[in-house]
Amino acid sequence: MPEPTAPTAPRGRDPRQGVAVLGATGSVGGAALDVLEQERARFRPVVLVAATQGDALLAAARRVGAPRIVLADPVVGAAWAERLGPDDPELAFGPEAVRAAAEAPDVDVVVQGITGAAGLEASLAAARSGKRIALANKESLVVAGPLLVRAAREGGATLLPVDSEHAALHQALRAGRPDEVRRLVLTASGGPFRGKKREDLLHVTPAEALAHPTWTMGPRITVDSATLMNKALEVIEARWLFDVEPERIEVVVHPQSIVHSLVEFVDGSVVAQMGPPDMRLPVRYALGWPDRLEAAAPRFDAADYARLTFEPPDTETFPALGLGFEAARRGGTAGAALNAADETAVARFLAGELAFLDITRVVADVLARHPFVAEPDLADLRAVDAWARTETALACEAVS
Ligand code: MG
Repeated sequence: MPEPTAPTAPRGRDPRQGVAVLGATGSVGGAALDVLEQERARFRPVVLVAATQGDALLAAARRVGAPRIVLADPVVGAAWAERLGPDDPELAFGPEAVRAAAEAPDVDVVVQGITGAAGLEASLAAARSGKRIALANKESLVVAGPLLVRAAREGGATLLPVDSEHAALHQALRAGRPDEVRRLVLTASGGPFRGKKREDLLHVTPAEALAHPTWTMGPRITVDSATLMNKALEVIEARWLFDVEPERIEVVVHPQSIVHSLVEFVDGSVVAQMGPPDMRLPVRYALGWPDRLEAAAPRFDAADYARLTFEPPDTETFPALGLGFEAARRGGTAGAALNAADETAVARFLAGELAFLDITRVVADVLARHPFVAEPDLADLRAVDAWARTETALACEAVS
């Protein structure tokens, strides 16, 4: 874990930390904008990035006073460039512009809220250029954990998780030394189908899978929560972020989503972090660390939670979780294959072209067959990602 460093500003420069928000129109981006709006004395939004939603991006930039915006999609970006006037934020577009936003000299903090493996390049750029990275894009660690961690170390960057479980682990780990940690316990809500059996899930619709009981999130991660694939990805995320072997990571189902994760130390003490299920909390923690930023809301009231329960995950009904442990143990390109297959299969499910139970079945098959490389470079990871997307699409055709 890198030591805290106080950001210092040269004389005459705005003392506030410059912030880039990648994925500014998504759910984590929205939570980040809420926090930035409340923390104007400490942070200065410099550039907001979105994939395609020009209207929402422009509205967000006006709301927080960001002078620059980036649209990742070059066609949509070019169309918007024609429409903006001299009083609008400065617009850049295309993949290069996304990378430039992540490594811009006036950016100190990158809130990385892009969804999917598409966020990897920007995470690596931010890591190499020594930013504080509030990392909500767990896929960067799932796909390229060792590369990202090394890039951050070499670039002098700090990786802080914006994932409620990992933010909880990060906080709980402060209670002891790394060599005093026995195991990490990730909590899972269990999603909308907790308690169901496979025969109950044969005809699940996208709308049913998108109805998460405790968290409001984007569509892919919500479906991933229903299959438990999200927890599978989080096992891999924790493995690389905290450098803990998968054998020392466990998952427990905790439907109330109040205990966000736990760390067991060698003396038997278990330190848990609790709080309301609200993404603004992990955002606040990542932006403020090593300080705590004061928040007016939401507040925790123990009386609202008379019963907090824990149960083992049902790996029979939700076999995706096992794939996460398998990919975490194998390392190499396994995370890239798992993630790309899942992104593709979930998109097919959301389009009504794949049955719910077939998501994990197809992903397991593609993971098992993928051309494994033990020590991949970025080109190997990209190749496996592309291969897995094609193979998953073919496998979806075959089963539908
Ligand atoms: Mg999470």
